[in-house]
Parts: sequence; C-alpha cells; structure tokens
Amino acid sequence: MRIAVLGGGPGGLYFAYLWKKRHPAAVVDLFEQNPAGATWGFGVVFSDQALEFLRADDPDTVDAIAPRMESWRNITLNLHGESVEIDGVGFAAIGRLELLKLLQARAEGVGVTARYGTTVQSLDQLAGYDLIVAADGLNSLVRRSFEGDFGFSVSYSSNKFAWYGTSKTFPTLSQTFVATDRGSFNAHHYRYAPDMSTFLVECDRATWQAYGFAEMSVDESRRICEQVFAGTLDGHSLISNRSVWRNFPWVWNEHWWHRNMVLIGDALHTAHFSIGSGTRLAIEDAIALAKALEAESNLSDGLARYQAERQPIVKKLVTAARTSAEWYESFPGHMKLGLMDFAYSYITRSGRIDDNRLRTMAPQFMARYEASRDKGARA
Ligand SMILES: Cc1cc2nc3c(=O)[nH]c(=O)nc-3n(C[C@H](O)[C@H](O)[C@H](O)COP(=O)(O)OP(=O)(O)OC[C@H]3O[C@@H](n4cnc5c(N)ncnc54)[C@H](O)[C@@H]3O)c2cc1C
Repeated sequence: MRIAVLGGGPGGLYFAYLWKKRHPAAVVDLFEQNPAGATWGFGVVFSDQALEFLRADDPDTVDAIAPRMESWRNITLNLHGESVEIDGVGFAAIGRLELLKLLQARAEGVGVTARYGTTVQSLDQLAGYDLIVAADGLNSLVRRSFEGDFGFSVSYSSNKFAWYGTSKTFPTLSQTFVATDRGSFNAHHYRYAPDMSTFLVECDRATWQAYGFAEMSVDESRRICEQVFAGTLDGHSLISNRSVWRNFPWVWNEHWWHRNMVLIGDALHTAHFSIGSGTRLAIEDAIALAKALEAESNLSDGLARYQAERQPIVKKLVTAARTSAEWYESFPGHMKLGLMDFAYSYITRSGRIDDNRLRTMAPQFMARYEASRDKGARA
C-alpha cells in the first residue's frame, strides 16, 4: 500500500512510524510544512499514566519517551494568594518539540520518507496514493476541501487564552486565579522540563475587552500578563511563541473518512486543554486506524471499522472535555467561593467524581475539605 501522511504532529508521525514498522514493504511518505525541529507551543501534559496506554503495543517508544517526562502527584490551586493541594491527581509532561524529535527519529528509523519544510498546497499533489491520512491539525487542508462530506462543524468557547512558556519551574501542575480591578485571570502552569514550564493564561471576554488586548501587540499582551501574574512568576518572564489570544475551537466531524482520505487528531476533533488530552487522542487515533486497517482486507471496510470502533470512545472524552471547559467559562463566578469550596467545585467539575471516589483518590484533600465543611455547618 502507498500511504501519504499529511502533517508531522504527534498523530501523523506516530501513524507513519507504526504502519511502516509493522508493514516494512509499504510506502509511507510524510509531508510536514515546518522544518524538522521547529514547532509552536511549549509543553504538553498527559494524565496520570502518561504513555502507559502505549505500552502493550509499543514498549520501545514508551521506554524512549518516559525518562524525558516530568511528573508529579498533586495539583495546586492558588486563589487570592492562598493555596491548596489536591493529592492523587498525577500528571506527566514533556516539551512538544522534544516529543516530536523523538517521534521523528523513530519514524526515520523504520524507513518512513519524511519531507519536512514541504507545504502541501493542493490535494492534487497527493494523487496516486492508495490512502491519505489527514493528520494536518486544526486547519486541515483535507477536511477543508471536503467539509460537507466529512460533516464538519466548529464552535468556539467564549474565553480567550494565550499559550506562553517560562523558565520559572513549578513543583506541581498548578492553577492560579487572580482578580484585578478590570477582571479575573487564570493560569494553567506546569513544568515540562527541568528548567521550563508551560504557562497558559486564560480570561473571560469581558476582562479581555476591559484590558483592550484586541488592540495590543503580542509583546504588549505578554507584558500585561507578566504584571498580572508577577506573584506567581517570581521575577521570571513569560516567553512568547506565536502566543496570540485565541478562542478554543471545538472541532467535530460526523464522518471520519471520505473516499481514500481519513482524518485523525486535531483535524478530526478537539478536546479542551483543561483535560490535557489532545496529544494522547491523536496518538490513540493513529493506533486505532492502524488496527482497523489491519483487521479488514479492503480499504473502505478498514476505514469504516476505524470510525465504528473509535468514534464512541472519542465522543465520551469530548463530552467530558466540554463539561470541564464550561467550568472555566464561568471561573470568575467560582472565585467568589472560599478556598476549600472552590477547590471542591474545581475537582468535581466534570461530574464524573463523587465524594466516595474523592475520598479514595485524594484522601488528604477530602479530609481537609470535609473538616472545613463540617466547621461551616456548625458555625
Ligand atoms: C493552548 C493549547 C494547549 C494544549 N495543551 C495540550 C496538552 O497539555 N496536552 C495535550 O495532549 N495536548 C494539548 N494541546 C493539544 C495538542 O497540541 C493537539 O491536540 C495535538 O498537537 C494534535 O496533534 P495532531 O498531530 O493531530 O496535530 P498537530 O500537532 O496540530 O500537527 C499537525 C501538523 O500538520 C502540519 N500541517 C498542516 N497543514 C499542512 C500542510 N498543508 N502541509 C504540510 N504540513 C501541514 C502542521 O505544521 C503540524 O505540524 C493543546 C492545544 C492548545 C491549542
């Protein structure tokens, strides 16, 4: 089979690597507009088990990546200068560039032909391939070319966010909520390398307008965010890398394949950064696609199987991500709660965690929360 993979993000690189490794006779050509070693953004975070979901199928990749990840057990919430830790909610993170470099090396190692610095301008350039894997991200060319056939839809969260880095390192994944005279901000910040952290700043639309961010350059916005979070950054700067203000786009496609083209990763669906699963979802899509194609003897049956098996799983996750994002859409209101009630509201925001589960998962936090609740009831 001759396969063109469009896009060298985590989804495209992983699919190309996996297919070529398992089918050495196949032609797998990957096209990526950026040079190898260039990327946007800073770190990406995975949930507790990090890459363990890969281990059964691909222990070598897990062993190559895992030692380079930063990991921690707790989440810290900072509200109006007070802090509380929620124990037992572990995460692991890695620099996006570092992850891509590792995946690039693995794809090269199995014989994928990767054409970096090559923008595919038109699908005519991919004529002659048996299969086109569209791993070309949010603004996918393949999807844009057949939006109606894919049943594409997009809507936007109302909050604004900008994705920065900083050399300030934080001991745990942290969320810092700050009220100013013109509105409220939240930062999601976590260490992804021994000397670097992601620092994603979010605010509601009213705050964004009150500050006049629409009229400011990237650098002016960055400086204001540094002032807002001066207490957290502790003298460190925010580092910008295409750090423009954006609204989170909710991408969905009803039909995951059309003719010989199939969507994976962000081209297919997005899941809000507050549940930190976009990279994992893209890699899991790649695995599901490879397995579905292997299970069927012809291409269209394989593509139909991919959608039938994977869509219900992704739908569930996207629903959880939407519920989580809704909490953030009204975070200035939640900030009126006391610290412990605020933390409880945060940790139960997806509606999937009840008190019993919390007592097992986060015993120290729950003991503290229940003590404060009982004290409140007695007062
Ligand atoms: C603010 C923010 C924070 C995030 N935080 C996290 C996180 O903590 N954890 C997490 O797991 N995920 C996170 N994500 C999501 C994550 O970045 C994406 O979900 C993930 O990168 C999707 O992988 P992908 O391979 O589908 O697409 P991408 O990583 O977007 O890769 C697509 C690639 O295709 C290339 N391309 C596009 N068009 C063309 C073309 N015409 N020709 C050639 N090349 C092309 C692009 O250059 C790009 O390299 C975050 C996203 C945002 C916006």
